[in-house]
Order: sequence, then C-alpha cells, then structure tokens
Amino acid sequence: MSSETRQLSTDVIVIGAGAVGENAAGRAVQNGLKAVLVEAALIGGECSYWACMPSKALLRPGIALHGAQAVAGSREAVTDGLNVQSVLKRRDSFTSHWDDSGQQEWVSGAGIELLRGAARISGERTVEVTADDGTLTSVTAGHAVVVATGSTPAKPPIDGLETIEYWTTPEATSAREVPPRLAVIGGGVAGTELAQAFARLGSEVTMVVRTKLLDKFPAPAGELVADALAADGIDLRIGAEAATVARNDDGTVALTLRDGSALEADQLLVATGRRPATADLGLESVGVDAGNLSVDPSGRISGAGGWLYAVGDAAGNAPLTHQGKYEARVAGDAIAARAHGTLGEEVERWSKYAATADESAVPQVVFSDPEVAMVGLTEDAARDRGLRVSTVQMDIAVAGSALHADDYTGWVQMVVDEERTTIAGMTFVGQDVAELLHAATVAVVGQVPLHRLWHAVPSYPTISEIWLRLLEEYGL
Ligand SMILES: Cc1cc2nc3c(=O)[nH]c(=O)nc-3n(C[C@H](O)[C@H](O)[C@H](O)COP(=O)(O)OP(=O)(O)OC[C@H]3O[C@@H](n4cnc5c(N)ncnc54)[C@H](O)[C@@H]3O)c2cc1C
Repeated sequence: MSSETRQLSTDVIVIGAGAVGENAAGRAVQNGLKAVLVEAALIGGECSYWACMPSKALLRPGIALHGAQAVAGSREAVTDGLNVQSVLKRRDSFTSHWDDSGQQEWVSGAGIELLRGAARISGERTVEVTADDGTLTSVTAGHAVVVATGSTPAKPPIDGLETIEYWTTPEATSAREVPPRLAVIGGGVAGTELAQAFARLGSEVTMVVRTKLLDKFPAPAGELVADALAADGIDLRIGAEAATVARNDDGTVALTLRDGSALEADQLLVATGRRPATADLGLESVGVDAGNLSVDPSGRISGAGGWLYAVGDAAGNAPLTHQGKYEARVAGDAIAARAHGTLGEEVERWSKYAATADESAVPQVVFSDPEVAMVGLTEDAARDRGLRVSTVQMDIAVAGSALHADDYTGWVQMVVDEERTTIAGMTFVGQDVAELLHAATVAVVGQVPLHRLWHAVPSYPTISEIWLRLLEEYGL
C-alpha cells in the first residue's frame, strides 16, 4: 500500500452503485449507520443506462403503434411507421443521456458517502479503492461489506468471436443507429426483446437460438412470442448454433451455423446470458470462491465470517432489478439490525431480514409484444421440488381481452400446489399482461387459498376476468 493512501472508516461499504447497491447503502443509512458506496462507472448501473430502461424505451413505441393497429377505428389512423430518430431521442432521455448527476444528487441527499473508483477487497472488512487518477483510498467497515457489482455478458464459445467487434446488450441498448441487418445470437429475454425492438425499428433481424425461444418459460409462451416475431419479419433459426464468425473486408459480419448454413449481417448482437461480476474483486483474499458464491437469505456470503454480503446480479439468485433491490433492502436492514444487536445469526423466513421470495415467488416480465409475465414456479420446477401440483391453462378470451384488441391472442397457466390449494406459479402471455402480474404475485406470496381467491372478483370487462375463468376451470 502506498504511503499516500487515504484512510477512511465507515460502518458499511457497498461495492457497486447500481440500483441494488444504492438500495443497500440507502437502507443501512436509514437505519442509522454510515455507508460508503463505491462506483467504478455510472451511478445507477446497468439497469438505468444499458439494460432495463433503454431496452424498454426502444420497445415501447413499437408496442404502442401495434396497440393502435390492433383495434379497428384507431387502426385507420396509423398512416406511418415508427420515427426512428424520435424513438432514439426518447430512449436518450430515459438514460439521462448517460449522465449520472441526478443519481449522484440522490446519493448525497440520502446521506451516503460516494467514492468513485474500482474497489477490491484487501482484507477483512477492508476495501481498497483506486480512482481513475490512480489515487488510492483504503476504507474499513465497522460492520459489513456488500458486494453489489452486478453481472457481465457471457461469451459463448464461437470460433472467431474474440477477434471481431460485436454488440453485447450495452452496445445494442445505446445504439445510435439501426443496423440494416442484425444477427442476434441468443433467444433468452434480452435477445428476444432487442430482436423485436430492432425489427420494429427497421432492421432485418435473424435470430440464432440454440434450444427454444424463452426456454425458461412454459413452452406456449415461447411459441406465441415466436409467432409474433415471425410476423414482425424476424428470421428465427430455432435449434441452431453459431459455429464461426468473422468480419468481412466491407465490415459485414459472416456467421456459419453448425448445420453448415451461412448468414450475413451488418451487426451482430450476442445475448447469451450473464455471469455474476465477482472476478478480480479480491474475494479469494478472504477465503471466498468468487465463481461460486452462496448467500444466506439475509444476503450473507456463506463461509465468509459474517461481515461479507452479496446482493443483486452479483449474488446470482434472481438477476432482475426489482428482486435485487428487494435483496438489498433485506441485507441493509439485516446489517443494521445486527449492528444494533437486535438480530442474530439466523433469520426467520418471510421476516424483513430474509429474501424469502427469491425461493419461489420471483416475478418477471418479458417486455416483448405479446408480453410474457410469470411469477413463482413453472410446473416442471414445482415438480422438481417435489411439490404435488396440478395445472389449469387456457387461451385468454374474455370480454376484457376482446375489447382490448381485435383478435386478442393470449394464454395463461396457473400451477396449483395441491397440498395447500394455493398458487405455486402463474404465467400470462398476451398484449399488456404485465400489469396483471402483481395480482398473481400477491396471491403467490400471500399463499391465498383458491377458495378465498374466489371472492376476489375481477372487474368487468377487464383482462383480469381470466382469473375467474381459471378458478371455474379448476372446479370452483
Ligand atoms: C438488456 C437487458 C434488459 C434488462 N431488462 C430488465 C428489466 O426490464 N427488468 C428487470 O428487472 N431487469 C432487467 N434486466 C436485468 C437488470 O439489468 C439487472 O438485474 C440489474 O441491473 C442488476 O442490478 P445490480 O445493481 O445488481 O448490478 P448493476 O446494475 O450491473 O450495477 C453494478 C455496478 O457495480 C459497478 N462495479 C462493478 N465492479 C465494481 C468494482 N470492482 N468497483 C466499483 N464498482 C464496481 C458497476 O460499474 C455497476 O455500476 C435487464 C438486463 C439486460 C442485460
């Protein structure tokens, strides 16, 4: 350590000022502790600048346009396509033009001390921060260090990928122009959303999908979304795998697939999942295997002596902004309670000190058109856990959906835990179903018995009437 190293002490150090780290630090401070928040890039992290916000801003205009086109009467009023420059301009405003001064203000207003630079754990409760100008600060925490460093894109083993420039999700979500031809590798949530966004903005899109589209969701979800992507003109290569990739002399991308077929594009987006960003963080120096973090429900990293926590994408339990922020609220509260001596080692399930929803009540929306909104366990996941379940599924065809759009197409599945007669999981697919999800989340978390749910009467005529149809079909 250099003699010019600045020394700082605090109660809690949070590494990473994404949405999750901000919440962990904020909660610790609200509970009377001092917190230092360290950020190497932009305060607000991936979600604000390169993930949730810009991707949804790129999708929303196409969905709004399609919504108008889906209803006779408004359909005739749509006389033009999307205005790409307006879409990009609106996207830029949602990312605050990649300027984090607003978030910096929030951090200081919340009473959190901000340190800009790259953090590395250098010993028990000690973190060394290197600023861009090389200045070193050594920070010691009286109580806890929280790893909230997010995740990084996974790199698939494709010959030639290391030698070319290509997009991962940050480049796609911050794109300044729409490539005439875009090849997308990956059919998960990010690949699907961005493929549709760019197709509707005018790209000729080809998707290379190894298994099925949206394979973590019940099969009809992927099938309905695949139909919609095909209707948007996307060339879907399902069951295909990229083998080699190269840039031609004219800058175009040449891909060959394992079946020997070839395709060419102007830009390549690789969206094949993400990995916790825990390498190069010094975790090994305190005896933690960075590639295999295991956290308890309060966020504490197992085997790390009780002072080290991980939340959000870095913890890897439920890599979604809302779920990471929930874990951060839990961890911030638990750290403070332990510091104040009001919480011991163990935490009670469903208490404010345990992120119990991560186990079996995680909500997630795919913001494609149609949307996919799922909470809790799929039928397969429930059976894998040894639950005795039954399912009820049907097309969404109620007065509310018929009014919502002409020829409304949608699907719903309810997975019922037969031991308790409660909902273990629920999936909706259809236009504008995202807003239906929270009712299902409340039912899953609240473990509301179906015979009680019978009394939650959906308003007429709304798409929520599907709840009544499901319960009737179940036999109530
Ligand atoms: C294209 C895309 C769309 C998505 N859309 C949604 C969505 O609609 N809804 C949703 O819920 N989720 C969505 N997600 C997931 C969501 O973006 C993540 O779950 C969320 O950003 C995780 O937040 P985080 O704070 O854990 O990590 P991040 O937001 O990645 O923040 C981590 C921060 O830590 C900093 N950092 C890392 N290492 C260090 C270090 N050593 N020192 C200092 N700072 C460091 C990084 O610079 C970064 O700012 C999407 C993801 C992608 C890729």
